[in-house]
Amino acid sequence: MKGTINIDQERCKGCALCIEFCPKKVIKLSDRLNAKGYFVAAFDGGKECTGCGTCAVMCPEVAIEVMKS
Ligand code: SF4
Ligand code: SF4
Repeated sequence: MKGTINIDQERCKGCALCIEFCPKKVIKLSDRLNAKGYFVAAFDGGKECTGCGTCAVMCPEVAIEVMKS
């Protein structure tokens, strides 16, 4: 199964929980600041994401949407 995710940049607070728990390690902290001044998470690997949904479950800000394909 393949998947992709969308991270709502303005909801993200850069806590890195999604990064820590992604089994495929396809999320990274970017060097981009959002309007609140947080470095935001960025999806980094379309091919490896399985759409498992762990990142979305872990995100305390409900900033991640997972799409399976
Ligand atoms: S859906 Fe799973 S594999 Fe894809 S980015 Fe989230 S935790 Fe990682
Ligand atoms: S878990 Fe949510 S708030 Fe934390 S870095 Fe990931 S997307 Fe941002």
